[in-house]
Amino acid sequence: MPWQVVCYERADGLAFGVSGVATRARGIRVSFPHLSASQIPMAAPVASEKLVYLLDPHGASRRPFLMRAADRILRLFGGLIGLEHSAFEIPWTPSFLHKKGGLVLSIGQFNQWVGEQLMASGAVQIWPGMPVAEPLMDGRRVAGVRLLDQGVAPDGAPGPGFLPGMDIRAELTVIADGPVGVLGRKLDDLLGMPPGHHKRDWAVGAKMVIDLPEETSLEPGTVIHTLGYPEPEIFGFFYVHPERIASAGVFVPSWFANPVRTSYRYLQHFLLHPYLWRYVKGGRMRSWGAKSLQESGRRGEPHLVGDGFARIGEGSGSTNVLTGSGVDEAWTTGVQLAEAVLALLREDKPLSKQNLEATYVRQRRASWVEKEGRIAQRARDGFHRGVVSGLVGMALAGATRGLLSIPGSPHPVRRMEEYFAGRLSPEQIAALRRDSALRGVPLHDAVMEACGWPAVPYDGRLLMTHQDALLLGGKVQAPPGYADHVLFLYPSLCEACNSKICVEMCSGEAITAPKDGAQPGFDREKCVFCGACLWNCEQGNIAFRAGAGGLHSAEN
Ligand SMILES: Cc1cc2nc3c(=O)[nH]c(=O)nc-3n(C[C@H](O)[C@H](O)[C@H](O)COP(=O)(O)OP(=O)(O)OC[C@H]3O[C@@H](n4cnc5c(N)ncnc54)[C@H](O)[C@@H]3O)c2cc1C
Ligand code: SF4
Ligand code: SF4
Repeated sequence: MPWQVVCYERADGLAFGVSGVATRARGIRVSFPHLSASQIPMAAPVASEKLVYLLDPHGASRRPFLMRAADRILRLFGGLIGLEHSAFEIPWTPSFLHKKGGLVLSIGQFNQWVGEQLMASGAVQIWPGMPVAEPLMDGRRVAGVRLLDQGVAPDGAPGPGFLPGMDIRAELTVIADGPVGVLGRKLDDLLGMPPGHHKRDWAVGAKMVIDLPEETSLEPGTVIHTLGYPEPEIFGFFYVHPERIASAGVFVPSWFANPVRTSYRYLQHFLLHPYLWRYVKGGRMRSWGAKSLQESGRRGEPHLVGDGFARIGEGSGSTNVLTGSGVDEAWTTGVQLAEAVLALLREDKPLSKQNLEATYVRQRRASWVEKEGRIAQRARDGFHRGVVSGLVGMALAGATRGLLSIPGSPHPVRRMEEYFAGRLSPEQIAALRRDSALRGVPLHDAVMEACGWPAVPYDGRLLMTHQDALLLGGKVQAPPGYADHVLFLYPSLCEACNSKICVEMCSGEAITAPKDGAQPGFDREKCVFCGACLWNCEQGNIAFRAGAGGLHSAEN
């Protein structure tokens, strides 16, 4: 029987995905030497690139002293240095951030474009809507995968149409399930991480795809990176596709100490910043989405190969947090593995751990993914000490090719009363809590507005409530017959939990404050499958299992 490549994708379509994307596309171009952006829907060559420091027009964000001082100076000399729209366009962009010669893409459209070519070749089958539940283990050897049980109740109990998950046996199981995939996590639990490696740094990225107003002056291929707002810890991006479409998004990192951190609301304030609002005002949301990023980069690299398995992509530690690039790295590690497997098959050698180490791992170690990953691996540690140290640490790592950086290790997210001390009294917080509980809504809107954030002026087109966005911006798929994929493990931990951060950060408002018992509620119909509840709950009290569905848009 000839070799077969079969890909199982849990989402309902090939075009599922959430990403920026601005990419240098070095690896992608090697695979497609005659690539022209015009071949791929929503793709454009990078035409211009800017790094912009956004000041806070409302005084609501929490800026460290040095940043406040810098803001004051910028405002004082604004006329001389070209401060406009509460923003300062930094005249020089560090070379490590550059995407010159690269592409602006939609990951959904790119995946579809590649997937169709692969399937047309007859060499590869891709099965969307097929969540994999777990790896099939033969001792420490991965023998294949088990698909998820179907026809079960939300608690997993078999129903009338029960279909136990099929076992798929394979010579080689490629684990490419991204930052929060269940297979990768199970293997990490089983095999441990290589010495000194960890997956402790995360972010959730939330984005919107927007129809820009007709009179827009923005050219396709415009790339804008931002820092400073809506909070100093939150970086943003704004990329322009052809046909007056833009992607705008923010990253809310795990080192942000604020227990109130819903990415959707921050995304709205980002768009409302005067620097961006002049571009998007009058525009319309086409879709939105959110997804976790594994920000430990190369230090998050697990065992890359083992008996019966190999790992590629973000879950294998390929994402570069200095250059802000993950797509091309994920692509390149996949190509490296494919080339290694083909070479071994040609030589009639088994796909053993030893042979994969001598081919795939060796090639990966010699490539730009590894070299740049090493430069980046400590670049962001300084953020654990504060934003200014973080920015200095990044600049240092970039300038010295990773030789110098500022060290730091994670701190727990602060209690509400501690984080908002000086802004909100414990009594105010308690009152806001009571009121939000009565109304059955998360606390974040009330806390943000009490801290000076203006209410979001909903227009029903671009700015809409989180709940409306779940209905309009793409569609949330929660097919029946699958067990709930988010579970709260120990009620006692939830009861003692002050921040209920899972409720306050949930990207789809799918996790709701406890009503009758101690545990929060979970509504599968609203889960966008970002996976961020998994790492936001510091008590490790959330099980994030394999599941179908999520927010689906072919454009994100
Ligand atoms: C908002 C945002 C903006 C970004 N911007 C950029 C950018 O501008 N440039 C850039 O280069 N990178 C960017 N990134 C990072 C980049 O998107 C990732 O590094 C990249 O997508 C990683 O690719 P991957 O294939 O390894 O993982 P993923 O893209 O996460 O793909 C993993 C796939 O596995 C599937 N899967 C997971 N579990 C299972 C299961 N149990 N069974 C079956 N299927 C499963 C998932 O549904 C998913 O389709 C951004 C990320 C985000 C979230
Ligand atoms: S799941 Fe975690 S964050 Fe949520 S209430 Fe329970 S312990 Fe707190
Ligand atoms: S419940 Fe769903 S939408 Fe909410 S944080 Fe978890 S994965 Fe994301």
